Amino acid sequence: MSLIQCKECKQEVSDRALTCPHCGVLSPRLQPEISTWAVAAVVLAFFIFIFWVNSPR
Ligand SMILES: [Zn+2]
Repeated sequence: MSLIQCKECKQEVSDRALTCPHCGVLSPRLQPEISTWAVAAVVLAFFIFIFWVNSPR
């Protein structure tokens, strides 16, 4: 567990906090969620797959 900066009030918040204890904002972390990166990776893999299927062999 580590402390991060709230995206709204810039105060220290636990990285596991669902809401900021200072200003009450939902998901106070600045970084995108892991799930956002997972979706991006799946989309990228899909495009690589399409390119690979269409490439002449
Ligand atoms: Zn806050």
